[in-house]
Amino acid sequence: MANDAQPSRLTPRIVAAFRPYSGRVTAVGLLILVTAGLGVVNPVLIQVVFDSALFPEGGPNLNLLWLLGGIMAAITVVTGGLGIVQTFLTNQVGQRVMRDLRDTLYRHLQSLSLGFFTGTRTGEIQSRVANDVGGVQRVVTNTVSDVLSNTVILISTLIAMLVLSWELTIVAVGTAPFFFLLSKLVGAKRRAVAAETQQSTAEVTAITQETLSISGIMLAKLFGRQSREIERFHQENQKLSDLVIRQQMTGQSFFTLMQIFFSLSPVVIYLLAGYLLTGGGANALSPGTIVAFTTLQSRLYFPIGRLLEVSVELQASMALFERIFGYLDIPAEIVDAPDAIELAPEQVAGAIKFDSVRVNYAAHREVSLPQGNPPEPAWANGSPATGSNGAESGGPTDAETRWALDDVSFDIRPGQLAAFVGPSGAGKTTISYLIPRLYDATEGSISIDGVDVRRIKLTSLAGLIGYVTQESYLFHATIRDNLLYGNPRASREELEAAATAAYIHDRIIQFPDGYDTVVGERGYRLSGGERQRLSIARVILHQPRLLILDEATSALDTASERYVQSALEPLMRGRTTVAIAHRLSTIIAADVIYVIDQGHLVEQGAHTELLARGGLYARLYEEQFEGGQVECYCEDGVVMTDGNIVYSDSEAGALA
Ligand code: ATP
Repeated sequence: MANDAQPSRLTPRIVAAFRPYSGRVTAVGLLILVTAGLGVVNPVLIQVVFDSALFPEGGPNLNLLWLLGGIMAAITVVTGGLGIVQTFLTNQVGQRVMRDLRDTLYRHLQSLSLGFFTGTRTGEIQSRVANDVGGVQRVVTNTVSDVLSNTVILISTLIAMLVLSWELTIVAVGTAPFFFLLSKLVGAKRRAVAAETQQSTAEVTAITQETLSISGIMLAKLFGRQSREIERFHQENQKLSDLVIRQQMTGQSFFTLMQIFFSLSPVVIYLLAGYLLTGGGANALSPGTIVAFTTLQSRLYFPIGRLLEVSVELQASMALFERIFGYLDIPAEIVDAPDAIELAPEQVAGAIKFDSVRVNYAAHREVSLPQGNPPEPAWANGSPATGSNGAESGGPTDAETRWALDDVSFDIRPGQLAAFVGPSGAGKTTISYLIPRLYDATEGSISIDGVDVRRIKLTSLAGLIGYVTQESYLFHATIRDNLLYGNPRASREELEAAATAAYIHDRIIQFPDGYDTVVGERGYRLSGGERQRLSIARVILHQPRLLILDEATSALDTASERYVQSALEPLMRGRTTVAIAHRLSTIIAADVIYVIDQGHLVEQGAHTELLARGGLYARLYEEQFEGGQVECYCEDGVVMTDGNIVYSDSEAGALA
């Protein structure tokens, strides 16, 4: 990773970012040339003003003075005008480059697999998109034009100085190499501090994001950990504040030294001129020449100083570019194959086949970032700090090399309801993630209607699948907008029909703003059951061919669960459904039940068969449903049981 930090590697990438704006960059370059060239005219004219207009042998020449004054004024005005155009173009290029960088970063992040997001804190990601890109903004906007304009000023001034007096010029620029070396040292130090500062900024953002999100704030309140969170924030905030001070102060003595030297240098020139005149070795040194030279000299030092400063700033901004490119260099694992095909929903019958599938999450965690893995949160007291991205030192642990799924094969026929049951951590959710390619199998294949999912375009695959998760995620937007996420082209009637089918329409119209009610951050203004029914309505609008249900275990009360169940039934009808089943109703209604244990498919069959076999399923069933009150909602009615399970007519028939 250290190699990435080399400016030589970064420069072509930074230059490439400017390529689309080469026309405007050239225009800026030309403007800089013109203004910098015009900039040396006035100091040179000073010599003429002094020697030919103010103090010629025959007395002042007023006509020439007016002419020279006019030219000098015109040059100043023109230079100012061109400066405005140049500033506009520079800012425009800078802002466009930043926009492109943010877009590219966001697009790339969207393409990264779930593995990246499970291994990286959201705040860290936000910080790179906002703070790091923002951080290079100033450099991109100012530095590039600064380098150009100051280089041109430097060269033109040097030429003018050499023309006036080469002896004085040698003395004036003699100390430049010393400052150059010093600036390189200061630059390297600043760069290191800048990297640390950005990491600390990301940490503050991550803490804010984690602890001030609704879930985070609830957790802190419920465990009474607010003062601890405040302290944690304070500590990181303090660190950031110290780092920023360090960053500002690094090199300040260098800049001060430079300024003192520059302020004193005219004195050196006067002294040297005095000696040259006394020795009679510099006849060309007229008063006009000396005044013009010191004026040029002051013009020379500013660009030298600025260029040295810019080189220091550039070093610091390299740290930011490294962080941005670090994310861009993470390969998007799950992408469309070159020969990927579209599968039209109407062509899809809905067969799902897993063939010798193995999954190892560690294989998805080889995402390594260039630097700055934030430490584990403070609540993980006593545990060794590890990176947030899975790039820990010390190699993968046993848990990481374990197969989350091992040699899993099954065939779900079109229209079947397949229930997956098994103990916690068995691998059920992992199975559900593989179908929409949230992860790819490490080995083996998953196919829909005989087509490997890796050969189906991702957008097409997403169009085929509807996923109802345990925790229904809603955006902070209106109910309507959240529903339209399922199908942006849905009409009002379709929207209401979907909401009616999901048993949520009546509730929505009770809100004062109806469908225009804002659901609040992550939908927290709605109850758990309402959120789930909304998310079911969203999936109904999506019209998927395959349905994946990750059933909630205990998030809903009996009445809400009944509503949710009723909402799901029409959705499941005619669709292949993969259900991570926790509800008895789903298990009993399933065409086939797959029992997963420690990543293996250990049993499969219908409810009664599996029960009769007396294996893991029978044990799980006993533990989960026997001896407690169980409700079962089946098409022909709800049956309440107490202690012993009582089945509805159809189930009793099925069991017999
Ligand atoms: P539950 O019923 O508790 O939700 P599950 O059967 O759905 O469990 P999975 O979530 O599929 O289980 O997890 C299977 C195994 O894979 C577990 O051991 C889990 O710790 C591991 N695992 C899941 N997600 C990841 C991940 N992103 N990185 C590493 N390991 C993971």
